[in-house]
Amino acid sequence: MKLSNTATIIGDSPTLKLNAKVAALRKEGKPIVHLGGGEPEFPAPIAAVEALVKKAQSRKIKYSPASGTPELKKAVTKFTKDVYGIDIENKNVVISVGAKQSIYDFLLCTVNPGDEVIYPVPYWVSYPEMIKLVGGVPVEARPSKGLQITLEDLLKKVTSKTKGIMINTPNNPSGLIYPESFIKGIVEFCEQKNIWLLTDDIYNRLVFDNGSYVSPFKYAKNPQNILAVNGVSKVYGLTGLRIGWGVSYNTELIAAMGRMQAQTTSCNSSLCEAGALGALEGDQGVIDELRKNLEHNRNVLLGELAKIKDIEVFTPQGTFYSFVNISKYNKSSMAFAEFLLDKILLSVVPGANFGVDGYVRISYCASEENIREGLRRLIWALDKNDTDPIQIGDKLVKKDW
Ligand code: PMP
Repeated sequence: MKLSNTATIIGDSPTLKLNAKVAALRKEGKPIVHLGGGEPEFPAPIAAVEALVKKAQSRKIKYSPASGTPELKKAVTKFTKDVYGIDIENKNVVISVGAKQSIYDFLLCTVNPGDEVIYPVPYWVSYPEMIKLVGGVPVEARPSKGLQITLEDLLKKVTSKTKGIMINTPNNPSGLIYPESFIKGIVEFCEQKNIWLLTDDIYNRLVFDNGSYVSPFKYAKNPQNILAVNGVSKVYGLTGLRIGWGVSYNTELIAAMGRMQAQTTSCNSSLCEAGALGALEGDQGVIDELRKNLEHNRNVLLGELAKIKDIEVFTPQGTFYSFVNISKYNKSSMAFAEFLLDKILLSVVPGANFGVDGYVRISYCASEENIREGLRRLIWALDKNDTDPIQIGDKLVKKDW
């Protein structure tokens, strides 16, 4: 029996695979420090938990409307007003199984086989795979210098086949935010050229140093080509609920995305929708608490990384990731990450998974204690002059490298 072409060209999610590997090693009792994760350790907001329990106790856990309950859509319109400063209605909202499904459905609804979709490097691991899944051609736009592309770098990649552009700001894995001039330029360009623009804003409330996220809608005159994606996963630490959404002024797009869901997943889990509604209607102070905690952890990480000589660090402006240039130690990020996991039981994600070798992504959504312990091991491992053994768990580890 032969699998389809699609089944054979789509790769594993490297980050989910790493999570599974870490979980298995922990089960074996290994004292792993996991700085490769993509979810805050914060417990779920009480408001979300209470709403989930209430819904479960109602014993009405039935199908839900395909594109989301009206109550949850309404809450998303309020979120959109607060975060993007725009007024939308329920018909402009589709609720999906995580932000991930909204991104995938957007591609299903806008890309024909052979159409090109551009995204900046470094990119979130799923973008190229999702574009391939819908028969599109993934087109990487690489920065001419540093970690962030300029408008010029991006526009060089536009051809007559360009159907869409996907941007993610603040960015996973770099933690960087595109400057306002970039957002303005891309929004105006896409509008003029009739190119779809997806803005993946899943981290846009996790911004540090009193910085701000620039809404693409600020510069759009007739934003029929824009879909903004968001969700409860990161901002409330509710990754397991699997509730996200897309919002657009283009009601044809939103309706089509709803049809995709009706014919594939039928609808979202009504239980999870209730939990997400609880989070959105509950105390919003939890977001600030999380943001402050992440900012503190980022500072702890930066302070520790500063002790390592030959690495290059870019101060993250948001998210819970930092993307660190380790190429002076090892040009292969895969080999470097394997070395860390093998020798000092520290997990980080190889930059190659995000389209840039010679870097690793180090997350700071772990506890401060874990960040400090992970960095203690890393600093030791990379310091040639430190030849003393160190304690890792109940073992004394000696250098054999
Ligand atoms: N976009 C980006 C940039 C992400 O990092 C993630 C999660 N890692 C998602 C989308 C998906 O979010 P969700 O869990 O809501 O599907």
